Amino acid sequence: MGEDTSGFIGENLEAARKKISAAASASGRDASGVDLIAVSKTQSEEAVKRAIAAGQTRFGENRVQEAIGKFAAIKAARGDLELHLIGHLQTNKAAEAVAFFDVIQTVDRPKLAACIAEQARKQGRCPRLYVEVNVGNESQKAGVSPEALPEFLRLCREEYGLEISGLMCIPPQTEAAEPHFRTLKKLADEHGLKRLSMGMSADFEEAIACGATEVRIGTAIFGRRG
Ligand SMILES: *Cc1c(COP(=O)(O)O)cnc(C)c1O
Repeated sequence: MGEDTSGFIGENLEAARKKISAAASASGRDASGVDLIAVSKTQSEEAVKRAIAAGQTRFGENRVQEAIGKFAAIKAARGDLELHLIGHLQTNKAAEAVAFFDVIQTVDRPKLAACIAEQARKQGRCPRLYVEVNVGNESQKAGVSPEALPEFLRLCREEYGLEISGLMCIPPQTEAAEPHFRTLKKLADEHGLKRLSMGMSADFEEAIACGATEVRIGTAIFGRRG
């Protein structure tokens, strides 16, 4: 590891960074205000190491166990990695998630918020937390509906004493993403939340135009998932 910056992952990362910069400039934003999260779910530890060799420090994973298996040794060896949980979190995995991740982007229900709060107390550490918003009000999808967000934020903050830093969303696959990105931005502004995680390989430039502070890019960096 550590040498292969000439492979396709390094090239893809470079291309993604350039597109992020261009999209930020195009909307009068500073590129430093947009973090690139490399989504490495289902990818190998070797692929992650190649991305790290190409300068990538922020990674997103969907599953707690998979992330720990892949990143435990890497993370122990390097203090500068930032690991984001971007998939559904079961309450029985909350302890491990609080211990291992730097950011949990998928806080989406009272029971989970309560478990995270309890673990944060026990462990004396709390990851940065975002609430996942079901911007399309899709019945099969996780996330708090836009209508329920004010009460859920109040609950997190006042009942559980959690600091919520941002919002994340995955717009409906069958609809244009931009209106949903605008909805998330509006909600974040209304509630004083600075972090906005939105945009994936297919639409991250649009998300940046709408105010994304972090984009989650998988296939455009690592290629198709196996
Ligand atoms: C897989 C995944 C991504 C990355 O999607 P790509 O289309 O591969 O860029 C981003 N966000 C979440 C929540 C994901 O599950």
